[in-house]
Amino acid sequence: MFIMFPEDHHYFDITMLLLLVLVLTIAIVLSKIQNRKLQKMNKNLSDLRQELEEKNKMLEEVATRDKLTGIKNRNYFDQRLYDEMAKMDRYGGDLTLIFFDLDHFKNVNDRYGHDIGDEVLVAIAKHVDGLMRKSDLFARWGGEEFVVLLQNTDVEGAKEAAEKIRKEVEAIKHPGVGQVTVSLGVAQRHLEEDREKWFKRADAALYKAKAEGRNRVCTGESFEDEAMLDIKWLPSYISGHSEIDKQHQMLLKIGSSIINATLKDKPIEVLIEQMDQLIEHVQYHFAYEEEVLFEIGYEGYSKHVIIHGNLIKKAEILRNKLAIGRIDPIEAFDYFVKDIIINHMIREDSKFFNRLKV
Ligand code: GH3
Ligand code: MG
Ligand code: MG
Repeated sequence: MFIMFPEDHHYFDITMLLLLVLVLTIAIVLSKIQNRKLQKMNKNLSDLRQELEEKNKMLEEVATRDKLTGIKNRNYFDQRLYDEMAKMDRYGGDLTLIFFDLDHFKNVNDRYGHDIGDEVLVAIAKHVDGLMRKSDLFARWGGEEFVVLLQNTDVEGAKEAAEKIRKEVEAIKHPGVGQVTVSLGVAQRHLEEDREKWFKRADAALYKAKAEGRNRVCTGESFEDEAMLDIKWLPSYISGHSEIDKQHQMLLKIGSSIINATLKDKPIEVLIEQMDQLIEHVQYHFAYEEEVLFEIGYEGYSKHVIIHGNLIKKAEILRNKLAIGRIDPIEAFDYFVKDIIINHMIREDSKFFNRLKV
């Protein structure tokens, strides 16, 4: 006979239940431990990421700075420059450049040694850095040359900033060395002007400041005026005779170089050399033109020959006066533009152009 033990069955259920609870508890505890481990690992990872980001930032910052002076380097300057130029092309506004270079710095190195030279360089760079506005970009261009890019600043404003730099640098007393000065060139960017042309103007202005005696500010704006005064060859100048046209073009070329030399305040010797070149060319050209006019039987031939003679005489008188400092170079320029180009080439010569075109 089969006998049932209800208590035994109950006992079995309770044991199973307890076991289940134990397994569940262990599972919960284990998963909690695992979670904590994961959380810790996550935190470690995020700390590591943050540290890496900070290190990267530091490395980037180091890459943009000049090792010796601690100010921004040329690489960084170039990167920012293109951004600012693009901004100007898009939205307008003024963008001006200052170039500056330490005066007679070679003497400082020669007299006090390279290390002291370095100290002077660092002191000037740090001082100027402290003078600039937050929106100005000041960088070491290389050697003892520096550059400043001024946003929303026209040439007049930049001239003031440059003058401030000049005065402040002049006032620094370098231990054992004394005073060291700088020469500065300023050029405002023209609309859509390319980098090369713009920097050339700033460089030319710096060169001018050096040539005029150093420790001064010069602007590169007049160099652009000069380019505008370059006399261009126009279709209305075509005479109908190819050789005469060639000679007239040459006349414009020599004349333009006289204008440029005058505006750039080139030494008088350069101007005289160009005047001589002009006179020589004009003599050759007039003789040639007279031959052509004679051949075609031009009715105004004799009159034209007299005009030619007078122009050459006047050129020679001006040249000699220039050589002894009796006239201003501007008069030489005036003669070329008024007498040769306007009065002669455009008005007088054009009278026979129709004869040559047939
Ligand atoms: P100028 O007025 O015409 O500019 O005369 P300068 O003597 O300054 O011009 P030059 O270009 O003949 O000489 C520049 C000198 O600057 C020569 C070079 O040794 C010195 N120099 C350039 N970079 C450094 C630098 O990092 N440290 C030091 N100590 N000298 C430098
Ligand atoms: Mg230099
Ligand atoms: Mg120098």
